[in-house]
Amino acid sequence: MPTYELIVYGCQMNAYDGETLAAVMEAAGFTPSAAGDVPDVTLVYTCAVRKSATDRARGRINSLARRKQERPDALIGVGGCWPVVAADEIKAASPHVDFTFGTTSLEQVPALIAAARGEETGAPAAGLPPKRQAWPRASIAIMTGCDNFCSYCVVPYARGREQSRPADEVVREVEDLLARGFRDITLLGQNVNSYRDGGVDFARLLARVDRLGEGFFLRFTTNHPRDFGVDVVAAMATGRNIARHLHLPLQSGSDRILAAMNRGYGAAEYAGKVAAARAALPDLCLTTDILVGFPGETEEDFAATLALAEDLRFDSAYTFIYSPRPGTAAAAWGDVVPRAEKVRRLQTLIAAQRDISLAINEALVGRTVDAYVEGHSTRNARELAARTGANKIINFAGDYEVGARVRVCVTGGSSWNLRGAPA
Ligand code: SAH
Ligand code: SF4
Repeated sequence: MPTYELIVYGCQMNAYDGETLAAVMEAAGFTPSAAGDVPDVTLVYTCAVRKSATDRARGRINSLARRKQERPDALIGVGGCWPVVAADEIKAASPHVDFTFGTTSLEQVPALIAAARGEETGAPAAGLPPKRQAWPRASIAIMTGCDNFCSYCVVPYARGREQSRPADEVVREVEDLLARGFRDITLLGQNVNSYRDGGVDFARLLARVDRLGEGFFLRFTTNHPRDFGVDVVAAMATGRNIARHLHLPLQSGSDRILAAMNRGYGAAEYAGKVAAARAALPDLCLTTDILVGFPGETEEDFAATLALAEDLRFDSAYTFIYSPRPGTAAAAWGDVVPRAEKVRRLQTLIAAQRDISLAINEALVGRTVDAYVEGHSTRNARELAARTGANKIINFAGDYEVGARVRVCVTGGSSWNLRGAPA
């Protein structure tokens, strides 16, 4: 049987696409290659959201030229967000790349492979269930694309216009996952709050999926602060399975910068939505994304971001240094904040957030939490790692299968995770 290797970079949506692509390859007769072998086909599935992501993909793609030297008949394909916006650049810089593909029509990849070999293929197999790789966790795209055009962001160009999937299709996919024993399910979209299928908006979809079973974690990401509202808070408050975790990307605490980013909300509106969610949802875990060094971000703008983060006390924050993305509105404004200044702001923010995360996690000591075992701890192979409803990893000694639901008493907390003992 022909073999393949799939290398996936980037966000949860890319991981989900990778699972779909693996299913497509295996339906076409490919098997995963053994470590150390040069596969017949190597697929690199890329991210383009930051320059660091495309630099990393470029390095990996270039290192694959060796496979061609060892086996001239081996094929290299590059897919995902990057070729959608830069296919010509990739082909010019890396002539050993045989074909590129985007984020839609993944089922066409076997045909691209056949074409690169000058062979014929049969009809593509569409609608295959993704090959799940993270038991007992699974994600489902409820929508694709994005219409928001935040001025810094390449996603609307790389993934096209926003499109919601039919609610019935989402429901069937979740039913199937629950029947197969998956217990930690995430509904994915670039802005889940603008989901719509006829009369079904996101809050209704969430409530409907919540009722499909008992005893699982239901998550969703990403929320857009402009569109996130009380209807979703109410669904979370009444749901039986919906995890008390909200990922609400702030990006900046400065109204001036938020306006330049085209985010559609201000700092006070964001803080008001957080307050309402926290009032209705005790123990809510709140996480965010913050971007530093956007063109024109002054020291005062950054101070506003830092002050808001200290005021709101996120459980954790993904923090990023701005990099201009070709084709976006902000790219025309240059990369004006000096690199050293961006790094300083990032480090200041990370240090403040580290203290906040530590204090929040230490305050959990003595609580008992439910979690699903995901495998061994990365630090200590004799311990297990489980994921809580708050999406935190808790390490503890015990003897459970991967996928088991456990009740763990929190005995310690660091900035990054929790320690515990079986309750
Ligand atoms: N749709 C989601 C995720 C977008 S990409 C959302 O709206 O939150 C994930 C994160 O990458 C963003 O939240 C943003 O913080 C960051 N990001 C996007 N474009 C970037 C850029 N040009 N430079 C650095 N970080 C960026
Ligand atoms: Fe990018 Fe904004 Fe869309 Fe998120 S909402 S994917 S940041 S354009």
